[in-house]
Amino acid sequence: MKWLAGIVFVLAALGAFFWWAALDAAAPAEADGVVDIAAYRALVANDAPETLPTAVNVEFVGESKAPSFAVESGAFDGQRTLSYNSFQIVAPEGDTIIDGAVDRETLDQMSQGKGSFNEQTYDDVLATMTRAQRVMITHEHLDHVMAIARHPEPAALAPRLELTSAQLSGLPEHAPNGQLAPEIANIDAVDLTQPRRIAPGVVAVAMPGHSPGTILIYAKTAAREYLFIGDIAWVIGSVEHLRGRPRFITWLMPGVDPGRPNVLRQLRALHDVSEANPGLVLLPAHDDAYLRALVSSGVLSEGFTQPAAASAPIPE
Ligand SMILES: [Zn+2]
Ligand SMILES: [Zn+2]
Repeated sequence: MKWLAGIVFVLAALGAFFWWAALDAAAPAEADGVVDIAAYRALVANDAPETLPTAVNVEFVGESKAPSFAVESGAFDGQRTLSYNSFQIVAPEGDTIIDGAVDRETLDQMSQGKGSFNEQTYDDVLATMTRAQRVMITHEHLDHVMAIARHPEPAALAPRLELTSAQLSGLPEHAPNGQLAPEIANIDAVDLTQPRRIAPGVVAVAMPGHSPGTILIYAKTAAREYLFIGDIAWVIGSVEHLRGRPRFITWLMPGVDPGRPNVLRQLRALHDVSEANPGLVLLPAHDDAYLRALVSSGVLSEGFTQPAAASAPIPE
């Protein structure tokens, strides 16, 4: 019977390895204070209602498919569509663009040529950025930065960029020939180690874990509140079900979740903040079905609006 014990041992070891690599991604039981929404609200509590953002728009630039279990640990329900997007917070004093999506070349590489890319929406993102009041990114990964690192008019874009030093140091590898345009390379970094009011109704705070430069952006319109959570969760199910990405993804994609315990704590915190504030709209960067449902219900609008003036004032 020795051989039977051997087989049982090997199967148990394989099972344990599978669990560890693919399924072990549960958020902890508690993460109080990690997402301090009371602090974000306090920072914009005195902003006059007429200065607040009026809408949040999204441009769907590209998409690709991935197995659900690779996107959210333990989800075994077929394929998910991941979209690569840019967001626009529309406000009377000037718009904020969040994320620079992918260009065609990057999407082709990421999806082995199987993704679909929308030239028109990408051009709209590029054009809107040079008219916006400010341009930010949720983090420095390749699928969020291409309209910045490879922008055809870096001099027009640079004065509008509000990036942290961790985000800035992640950009050169995505720039043409690995070299950021000097105008962009030389901007002053913004410090988000503490929650900071960026504009009327808008707050940002560093939230490292998925990448060193990951930030959370809070925005309040007259109608509702939004939290741009970037890639802390690739899909809203990760927040709802309290489970992160499987470990094998971090082996396949170096640079994803270097601070994995932080990410799992953040998922717990986002889950709890969301439960306590049912009106709060969480915006994960890539959850195509969820984002399109928000468009259908009017919580988001598809397509950027162009600011009236080509030379909107530059932020101080
Ligand atoms: Zn990412
Ligand atoms: Zn991403």
